[in-house]
Amino acid sequence: MSHSSHKTAKASGGSEYLLDLNKKHSLLFTEPGAALERRRYRAAHPTEIAFIKCTDGRVHGPVMTETPLGIIQPWRNLGGKFDLGWFGFAQSMRDWVDYSVRHGRNCLVAVTYHYARGDAHRGCRGFNYDVEAARASMAELKKQFDRVFGKKVVYAILVGVETDWESLVLHGEDGKTVDLVELADQSEHAIEKLIRTLYPDMPERIQLDLLPLIQGNIRHAGRTKHSDRSVTVSEHQEWVLGVGRGFDWLHETNTALIVGPFDPHLSQAIATAATLIKGNIDEKRIVVGPGKGIVLLSSAPYRDAAGPERLLAEEKAKFLNRFSMDIIRSSVPELMEHVEQLTVTVDLHTRKIDVI
Ligand SMILES: [Zn+2]
Repeated sequence: MSHSSHKTAKASGGSEYLLDLNKKHSLLFTEPGAALERRRYRAAHPTEIAFIKCTDGRVHGPVMTETPLGIIQPWRNLGGKFDLGWFGFAQSMRDWVDYSVRHGRNCLVAVTYHYARGDAHRGCRGFNYDVEAARASMAELKKQFDRVFGKKVVYAILVGVETDWESLVLHGEDGKTVDLVELADQSEHAIEKLIRTLYPDMPERIQLDLLPLIQGNIRHAGRTKHSDRSVTVSEHQEWVLGVGRGFDWLHETNTALIVGPFDPHLSQAIATAATLIKGNIDEKRIVVGPGKGIVLLSSAPYRDAAGPERLLAEEKAKFLNRFSMDIIRSSVPELMEHVEQLTVTVDLHTRKIDVI
């Protein structure tokens, strides 16, 4: 049995940094105040929230909406491209909706695309920086949710994520859009009215639980707009290729490209992400060398440590690692000499990773 929480990765440098980062994050996540705050938030806002989003590490729902970690569940793929016809995604969504319904909760699904207001080339590489294409694709996915789940229990909304100021752009049911950073009247009353205008058929419970996300983003984007963070912060510098799930502890800006396991063209998604990281090296946005490599982080989460769930997660993570290494070897072989492998499971109760 190789299960040990104290094993360190064979390679050093990047892996050490990630293990350290995870340790810090897990401590914050399990700290009594944070755990209580999460429970309080859940009690006050019972709607389950999903963010369907791009692999791009800049798109981070909890940070952008100032929501405690562990409330918003991410589903990530290159460009945020998903299809409810994909077996893995369909099953994952059905399980999530079933879980919510069993607990008497509604579901809010934010279907997102991203772009940058200052420069198209800081936009989504998964869509070749074409924001129109990204928006159209995600609008289709939103409609798919409407068709499959209806709008009484599950409610899907189309959301643009603007990464320069980190503001959310809400697309209403009638096509009207509102960039939250430009909202003139930010009173609670005005936001309630805005929600009713944009989503007139949204269940009231979901309206009430969408409200704090909007308030959080208004605060967050307002601050980001007026800070003079350097533009390089929002340029691509990723050096971690994450494959699998359970990455919400890893939200450092521009660190990781994360590929979810749901895409039937998973090998293409991994090859594209590896190519993007190779581009970061070639264009000297990141420096690699001895002790400072690219990390392939293969991850699978589990909730139940006692049964087979944790062991299945180990098998998944190991498989994803082997699978990804094969793809990198065949499609971006130049990257191989820089790759450190870090294969982990994540305990969803603590967000702590265990190196396999
Ligand atoms: Zn993207």
